[in-house]
Amino acid sequence: MNVYFDNAATTAMSRAALDEMIPTLTETWQNPSSLHTPGQLAKEKLEEARAQIAECLGALPGEIYFTSGGSEADNQAIVSAARWGAKRDKKHIISTKMEHHAVLHTLQKLEKEGFEVTYLDVYEDGIVHTEDVEAAIRPDTCLVTVMYANNEIGSIQPIAEIGAVCSEKKVFFHTDAVQAVGHVDIDVRKQNIDMLSLSAHKFHGPKGIGCLYARKGILLSNIIEGGAQERGKRAGTENIPAILGMAAALKDVLAHREENNAKISAMRDRLIEGVMQIPHTKLNGHAVKRLPGNTNFCFEGIEGESLLLLLDMKGIAASSGSACTSGSLDPSHVLLAIGLPHEVAHGSLRMTLSEYNTMEEVEYVISQLPGIIEYLRDMSPVWEALQKGEKQYVIQ
Ligand SMILES: *Cc1c(COP(=O)(O)O)cnc(C)c1O
Repeated sequence: MNVYFDNAATTAMSRAALDEMIPTLTETWQNPSSLHTPGQLAKEKLEEARAQIAECLGALPGEIYFTSGGSEADNQAIVSAARWGAKRDKKHIISTKMEHHAVLHTLQKLEKEGFEVTYLDVYEDGIVHTEDVEAAIRPDTCLVTVMYANNEIGSIQPIAEIGAVCSEKKVFFHTDAVQAVGHVDIDVRKQNIDMLSLSAHKFHGPKGIGCLYARKGILLSNIIEGGAQERGKRAGTENIPAILGMAAALKDVLAHREENNAKISAMRDRLIEGVMQIPHTKLNGHAVKRLPGNTNFCFEGIEGESLLLLLDMKGIAASSGSACTSGSLDPSHVLLAIGLPHEVAHGSLRMTLSEYNTMEEVEYVISQLPGIIEYLRDMSPVWEALQKGEKQYVIQ
């Protein structure tokens, strides 16, 4: 059996996205900046997609800027707020310890340029406390950036509460909603969100396309200079097929949100129940405030990489931490942020589901995993020491 349980890394394209894109690739290939009729028809399609996406977020079409994906949107949101702040002597930014690297590495770059960043604690369950955000805001704070839902442990943040605090204190609020889109309520006006990033390939759209919502009146700084596309804020000929595919994918996931969430969370709960039967196993992240498709476990005495290889041999595609940190030997910054010791954080397994998965796949994984864990523990010197009582278990 082949099982794809790595939907937080990327998702398969939906029929809705493909049906929209395939004809577009052969028919709507003209440049929307061209003044001729076919160019203007492409421009019309582009603007229709923009309006559709805006409506899904509770935004205005003029507040949507197409980008190459979530990373670029995160970069542009943060850099824009920083440039605005630098002109007003506001060089303090508030974020969290568990952001995606698209946010963290942008912040680190700004720190080298003289910005000060407060990285808020996310506690054991991976949730930011709104009071901590409020307490961290200073007169020189120009931006609060907190992700909507975490990509590793799936924890969902109190975005509307944080938005209300930022609005009251008149500080820009950006959220990386890449993992949340399609699963949670998003209304940028009601939730006081000034900027929001999303990425199509995380909700069954094509890769290499995303957008930044930036509230009217926010002056964006360019990451990419060139032509006057995207109202001068993002140069480069628009990727019309991908943009239309993203709009179609978004409409489709939102139309089926309730039923998808119910189906996905039922599979997730069964998976958690099955995996937790394995002794000395811990579920990472919040028990309830988590994405419907997210599971993340630590197994005492196990090394994550070998676990992934053995699962792969059984046809199971999963990940350890995030796709971005796999390949590096450092334990996940998210698991360290929720207080796991290094040696335990190394043994993590993330399995993320979508509505394309089935309960049969879940049962298959539950049937295979205990044997693999036992096999690895039998070879593990750490496990041997734990068994002999020479070492204390971290996970009871
Ligand atoms: C995947 C992801 C990104 C990056 O999006 P890309 O479109 O792949 O650049 C950013 N933030 C989060 C939370 C993600 O899961």
